[in-house]
Amino acid sequence: MSESTSLSTTDELIIGIDLGTTNSLVGVVDSGFPIILADAQGDRLTPSVVSYAAPGSPQVGRPALRSASAAPSATIASAKRYLGRPFSDLSNEELAAPPFRLVARKDGGIGFAMPDSTLATPEEASAEVLSHLKKVAEEVLETEVNRAVITVPAYFNNSQREATKAAAAKAGLTVERIINEPTAAALAYGLDKLDDDQTVAVYDLGGGTFDLSVLQMRDGLFEVIATAGDTQLGGDDFDAALAASVAEELKLGELSPEESTKLMAEARKAKEALSESETYPLRLPFFREGESYELELTRDRFDAEISELVNRTGSICRRAFAEAGQKGVDTIDHLILVGGSTRVPQVQQKLKEWFGHEPNLSQHPDEAVALGAAIQAGILCGRVRSIVLVDVTPLSLGIETFGGLMNVIIPRNSTIPAKAGELFTNAVTNQPGMAIRVLQGEREMAKDNWLLGDIEVPFSPGPKGSARVGVQFAIDRDGILEVLARDTATGEDHLLEIRNSAVDVDDDEVEKMVSESVDYAFDDMNERVWTEAKLKSEELLPAVEMAMAQVGESLDEAEAAEIAEAATLVRSILEGGTHDAVALKAANKTLDAATQTLAALLVEAAFSEM
Ligand code: ADP
Ligand code: MG
Repeated sequence: MSESTSLSTTDELIIGIDLGTTNSLVGVVDSGFPIILADAQGDRLTPSVVSYAAPGSPQVGRPALRSASAAPSATIASAKRYLGRPFSDLSNEELAAPPFRLVARKDGGIGFAMPDSTLATPEEASAEVLSHLKKVAEEVLETEVNRAVITVPAYFNNSQREATKAAAAKAGLTVERIINEPTAAALAYGLDKLDDDQTVAVYDLGGGTFDLSVLQMRDGLFEVIATAGDTQLGGDDFDAALAASVAEELKLGELSPEESTKLMAEARKAKEALSESETYPLRLPFFREGESYELELTRDRFDAEISELVNRTGSICRRAFAEAGQKGVDTIDHLILVGGSTRVPQVQQKLKEWFGHEPNLSQHPDEAVALGAAIQAGILCGRVRSIVLVDVTPLSLGIETFGGLMNVIIPRNSTIPAKAGELFTNAVTNQPGMAIRVLQGEREMAKDNWLLGDIEVPFSPGPKGSARVGVQFAIDRDGILEVLARDTATGEDHLLEIRNSAVDVDDDEVEKMVSESVDYAFDDMNERVWTEAKLKSEELLPAVEMAMAQVGESLDEAEAAEIAEAATLVRSILEGGTHDAVALKAANKTLDAATQTLAALLVEAAFSEM
């Protein structure tokens, strides 16, 4: 039996991180449940703020936020806005927005010029936030943490994703996977159990950005089918709108940067309080030359100040839905709210009107993304074998099916003894028999798994789908796998016994197989979908050809052309060599649809011959 030390590198836990523009969080799956970790002060949200004001190591989070009003030009907020973007990308508006100075780096990226004339970068500032979260996790979990799943906005391009990874590397974290924020949120809401083709709208209104994503469940995976948003619209704008109205009423006139920061902070407090209560007494003690100000604010007033901003998110939603080919915003199956600003009652109320849907509020909107990241991280490390060695199958056992796919019969980590079976049929007419290849491993394609043995089951020739072969796997207490294949027509049994190898596999080999299966999960899944689509194409093409030969002449020209075009597309994707599974599936569907009339003609012809 292996000792636990050799497992240290792959058995480590993985944390999930929401690296937000305004706030960042870290979570982990603990005893089966995802949880968000709190720092020593009990805070789960870490403001994504880094202060380079004092010499030595920079301050992060709340302490940095506190020093912001004293040293605005040395306090980096919203570093995420600048990650992985070229300086030339910045609009004049963006250049003027922050209280710190943005400059071009030698490599063309964006830098922050600090008052002490040092240069900070978005990667460095983000690395400070990440390394703070890593520390929080290490303190709570009392173990070293080196691996993370990190979320990014769905619209992040490759360079922004790479910059996120670079920031993680600087913080000493290996990124096991980058996942899209809306997908993470959907995971947190448990929406990964949805049926195919269900659509989910994720409305994410954070501190500085608004993102609307439409997800669709396809083949058990979420696909982002549309994203829209405004990178300059969020809770900060609510603060600014309220602050401006307060400044006007109090006749504050021109504000210094320090005063402006202070007023914005107060406006934000007022805004957050007004989500709960109808009124809030705003106070600005010793605001200017010893003078204090006070103002009673109401939710109605706040609502009026922000209603135009909120309505803007509505237009964006409608536009995104049109682009996604959805009929209207009310055609979606689920609406989930993400981001702290969705706590504003007016936002929830308008969403209900627009979407005609009760939004799902079962999760904290500002924690959902991190929770989803934690779940994804948990899935990834859950696939790694646990230290406790109970008698389980170390790897999945199955057989190869048509198209070279792995069909799992006994999944990995099943307790033994175990028994399971499935019924198979012939995929080809007049197939003389079936070769049952017994495989072990976690990969989607049979060829990537280990072949344990094979048996040939002959059967009498018949049309496709006529044969019935039951395959049963049984592993006994000693780890001996017995494969029984029975031709149910004749009752004839074929037995194969595989000694030990079913359970007794070298630990390193198991680790290698499992980690490869994780590494190749996406490619493998694509390959599986591709293979399935390819089988479908190979069935469709000759069928269409035959039908055209038989009854094609009765079609009108346009229909015949449509079929020819659809078939050509399928063929070109098949021969294209890129294995674009999604494209092939779509092309099959088009061909299938184009041949409706043809199919009807065939049936008619068959009847008239009778
Ligand atoms: P991000 O994803 O941009 O990092 P969050 O999702 O954490 O940001 O959202 C931060 C925003 O949510 C801030 O503007 C904050 O003021 C706002 N917010 C947090 N709580 C509330 C509340 N109770 N009412 C209104 N706004 C809130
Ligand atoms: Mg966010």
